[in-house]
Amino acid sequence: MPSVLAYHRPQSLDEAQKLASEKNAVLIGGGTLVIPQVLANPSSETEIIDLQSVGLAGITSESEGSETSIKIGAMSRLSDLINNDKIPHLLQELCSKELPSTLRTQATIGGTIAERSSESILLSGFLALNAEIQIHEKNWIPLNEYLQSSSPTGIITAIKFSSPSHDSNSCFHTVGRTPMDVPIVSAVGYSESKGKFQVSLTGVAEVPTLITAADELANLNPQGDFRGSSDYRKHLASVLYKRVSEELQA
Ligand SMILES: Cc1cc2nc3c(=O)[nH]c(=O)nc-3n(C[C@H](O)[C@H](O)[C@H](O)COP(=O)(O)OP(=O)(O)OC[C@H]3O[C@@H](n4cnc5c(N)ncnc54)[C@H](O)[C@@H]3O)c2cc1C
Repeated sequence: MPSVLAYHRPQSLDEAQKLASEKNAVLIGGGTLVIPQVLANPSSETEIIDLQSVGLAGITSESEGSETSIKIGAMSRLSDLINNDKIPHLLQELCSKELPSTLRTQATIGGTIAERSSESILLSGFLALNAEIQIHEKNWIPLNEYLQSSSPTGIITAIKFSSPSHDSNSCFHTVGRTPMDVPIVSAVGYSESKGKFQVSLTGVAEVPTLITAADELANLNPQGDFRGSSDYRKHLASVLYKRVSEELQA
């Protein structure tokens, strides 16, 4: 049995939406996750909807007063962010650590968001910057809300965030088995001179998690695995929170 019954490359969002509503339809951005999953399941009878011709790639910025908003199309590749000077250094660093270079040229921002991996440091970085995502080129919703919802649907078309102001600060701390490994727990900190301070954590819940005060650490209930028990991950989260807080609030 072939695992792929059809391959579609829609030329518009409307066409993509229509195809995506069909039975067994699977959207692909870069396909780094989807394609191996489909090929591993010969009886899936999947119809692939490839978004590459819909026109969702590109990075733009818009200024209003002192604020600059940066918008990244869902089909932009992770490597596009590293090479674009509109993208804050923090996100460029997280992109280059998220995946090896061969996958970065293929994996998309939309796929990374839709996958909602608890271990995605890039997603965690967007969360720390209070990013919002756009579904079907219409509604903008906070990324945090999207990550916390139980079963989000729809084609993600873009993500946007305010460019960090000159008086803001950010940092990234991790604990992993080796520096090259996916972190067991990581923390992205972001602070503004007005007193706003928040930390986004990976490896402590089913999705990256935003913490705005130290006492919220007590509510974490991470799932343990061979790299670290639940208690160990909770302990790492409090150590990393303290490091980030000392660095940004000193
Ligand atoms: C070898 C390897 C190592 C990896 N390492 C890591 C890692 O260290 N950290 C990590 O977080 N991930 C890792 N991944 C997972 C994966 O690469 C990332 O999640 C990646 O960013 C997915 O992007 P993509 O565009 O390839 O997604 P795809 O495979 O195309 O899609 C992923 C999911 O998103 C959906 N989707 C895609 N685009 C959209 C859209 N615009 N709107 C709505 N839904 C959409 C798809 O239907 C699918 O469910 C790894 C994968 C591989 C193969």
